[in-house]
Amino acid sequence: MSDLVIYIVIAVAVVALAVAGWFGLVAPRRGKQVTAPTEPSTVEAPEAPVEEAAPEAPPLERPEPPAGRLERLRARLARSQSSLGRGLLTVLSRDRLDESTWEEIEDALLTADVGVAPTQELVERLRSRLRVEGAADPAAARAALQEELVGLVDPSMDRTLGVDGADGQPGVVLVVGVNGTGKTTLVARIARMLVAEDKSVLLAAADTFRAAAVEQLATWGERVGVETVRGPEGGDPASVGFDAVKRGIDEHVDTVLVDTAGRLHTKAGLMDELGKVKRVVEKQAPITEVLLVIDATTGQNGLTQARVFAEVVDVTGIALTKLDGTAKGGIVIQVQRELGVPVKLVGLGEGADDLAPFEPEVFVDALLGD
Ligand code: GDP
Repeated sequence: MSDLVIYIVIAVAVVALAVAGWFGLVAPRRGKQVTAPTEPSTVEAPEAPVEEAAPEAPPLERPEPPAGRLERLRARLARSQSSLGRGLLTVLSRDRLDESTWEEIEDALLTADVGVAPTQELVERLRSRLRVEGAADPAAARAALQEELVGLVDPSMDRTLGVDGADGQPGVVLVVGVNGTGKTTLVARIARMLVAEDKSVLLAAADTFRAAAVEQLATWGERVGVETVRGPEGGDPASVGFDAVKRGIDEHVDTVLVDTAGRLHTKAGLMDELGKVKRVVEKQAPITEVLLVIDATTGQNGLTQARVFAEVVDVTGIALTKLDGTAKGGIVIQVQRELGVPVKLVGLGEGADDLAPFEPEVFVDALLGD
């Protein structure tokens, strides 16, 4: 009996070993591609080692010059804003302009984010003008609206970008704004505009907390042969700005563009950080432009953020991005009024050259459509 038990145990052990062996040897090969051994049909002489060529740098891109860009992009503006222009013109060309018509006009302007005070001003001026001139003629009504809107956008403001330094020093542009507004993209696009004008540019990735943003900036720069100064991840943003401007001076660069961090954690924190960047950079050279980036699609929220930044640094210009994605182009008027600073650049798409210097007349024309 005990012999039988021993035989059974041995038999079980043998079977177990066989199964384990099968799984161990065969199963792992499953799923792997079994490639038949390839045999050379002829015996070839061993090749001489080939020296590996360094990968060729891609050719530099030639960005589009800034002049005339808004004309090119106006179709995008017209597409997103046409409801405002068309609506206003339809209402204005009615035979009788009664109270309810003026209310409709007011509503259209407010919906387009023109803002309460500018809307009332515009309506007042149009009312008195059309009372005298009459609104029966649609062409005359359009001309009146066009003129009044251009007046509100204020063509007399100086919209030149401060990209040139004095006394042989580089121009220093500080780009500020909340993350996500299009700040990094903007810095890269300004670099492209300057390169198109044959200026030498250096980028400072002072937003050291976002490694991806730093990487993105450097890549954009490389495409047009512009270098990026960066610091250690999470390092001091001010020291990156300092290093970049110092290098800009040493290398006689025309413009240094500084991308800053935009974490709107607390106003005090923001003030400390931006204030420090500004102070430290100015030990090297004066800042020639502080550009505040505002996302046009964020409306009132964007304005509130803008106010906070304007309290922290002396903003000298506004870049309004994503105007292609909103019918609220009236924000141009409101933001200029609020901050007393001109809109200098507008972003009208995600492409590398979809940034244009702002021109009031072209903008208003696009609003009203042809
Ligand atoms: P940052 O966080 O402020 O540095 O913002 P980014 O530069 O990373 O931009 C955020 C997103 O907005 C990206 O997907 C950009 O392509 C997009 N963007 C920036 N400017 C414009 C614009 O003018 N129009 C559109 N449609 N998208 C834009």
